Amino acid sequence: MSLMQGKRGLIMGVANDHSIAWGIARAVAGQGAELAFTYQGEALGRRVKPLAESLGSNTVLPCDVEDLESVDAVFAALKEKWGTIDFLVHAIGFSDKNELKGSYANTTRANFTRTMVISCFSFTELAKRAAALMPNGGSLITLTYGGSTRVMPNYNVMGVAKAALEASVRYLAADYGPQGIRVNAISAGPIRTLAGAGIGDARLMFNYQKQHAPLRRTVSIDEVGGAALYLMSDLSSGVTGEIHFVDSGYNIISMPHPDALKV
Ligand code: NAD
Repeated sequence: MSLMQGKRGLIMGVANDHSIAWGIARAVAGQGAELAFTYQGEALGRRVKPLAESLGSNTVLPCDVEDLESVDAVFAALKEKWGTIDFLVHAIGFSDKNELKGSYANTTRANFTRTMVISCFSFTELAKRAAALMPNGGSLITLTYGGSTRVMPNYNVMGVAKAALEASVRYLAADYGPQGIRVNAISAGPIRTLAGAGIGDARLMFNYQKQHAPLRRTVSIDEVGGAALYLMSDLSSGVTGEIHFVDSGYNIISMPHPDALKV
């Protein structure tokens, strides 16, 4: 079975082999997809290039979403190389880690704006450029977290940005649906990554979800990859505007199970 045979796409957000984007890249490449990657800065580029090569990709381009020229250069390169693309993975998020602890109320205007631009609005800007290369339809996905709808200590401005990102998914799904372009998000449970480590008390949050999620464990980047494969393949051809949880079921829980509270 080769669910992604003949499909080409761009993976944005690999920092290393712990990145969620890397789990997604492996899953879709394993089903025959042809991939291009971006990296943020030369230090990460040195890590991303060999990873990309291991999946048979030699299209590895620098891109910082704060710099629109670098964004445009990526899509110009893809247009020249492939002409069209079939999917885009946006696994990008950033906020000043000094504000990912304590109260949300102390968020500064500068960090609020920067967090929103990188973690939310970049998806809208990238979607527009990707859609221009999708004359036959396609699939766009982004990564979100349940701190968007319920308060998670220390997640602060990232929760606000993820709420806006999830709303963007719905608006973009409506905008691009008539062109056969689907837009969805995966809401992943906590995973130990570079970005995840920037959140205050990350280890506590990780262990709490492990203890209280219905499956009594956290999720792997390969499990997120499996869900992304579904969303980017034709298996999900009728699905758009969806926020799909891959979190061991943590989002359905109200009160922790009494067994888990006994010491
Ligand atoms: P990661 O650190 O491996 O990936 C984050 C990526 O964002 C990095 O590749 C980094 O280079 C990129 N990035 C940051 N600022 C950028 C910029 N200005 N331009 C271009 N790229 C930029 O961490 P991850 O956990 O794999 O994060 C991927 C996505 O998954 C993020 O949106 C994150 O919020 C989301 N997510 C993570 C978790 C988790 O627990 N790790 C849970 C749910 C959602």
